[in-house]
Amino acid sequence: MSGDQSNPTDCSEVLDRLYEYLDREMPDGECEKFQEHIDECSPCLEKYGLEQSVKKLVKRCCGQDDVPSDLRAKVLGRIDAIRAGDPLEPGTPGL
Ligand SMILES: [Zn+2]
Repeated sequence: MSGDQSNPTDCSEVLDRLYEYLDREMPDGECEKFQEHIDECSPCLEKYGLEQSVKKLVKRCCGQDDVPSDLRAKVLGRIDAIRAGDPLEPGTPGL
C-alpha cells in the first residue's frame, strides 16, 4: 500500500494509525490526510462506536488543548478491543 500515493487513506489504516495520531507521532502531511478521512468518513468510526470520542480527540489534538488522558485511554482501549476481534455489541453504550 505504501508507494501508491493516489490511494486515499483507508478505514483500517485510520484505525491502525489512531495511536500514532493521538500520540502526535504522525508527520504533518499524514496528519492532514488522517483528519480529512475522519471528517469525511463517518461510517468509518461510527461502526466502531468511536465517532464522537475520536472527533473530540482530533479537534483537541490539533487545537491548543491537551487530550484528556481518560478519554484518550478509553479510545485506545476500544481500538485494542476492535483489533483483538471484539465486535461492538449491540446496545453497548458509546464512549
Ligand atoms: Zn473510513
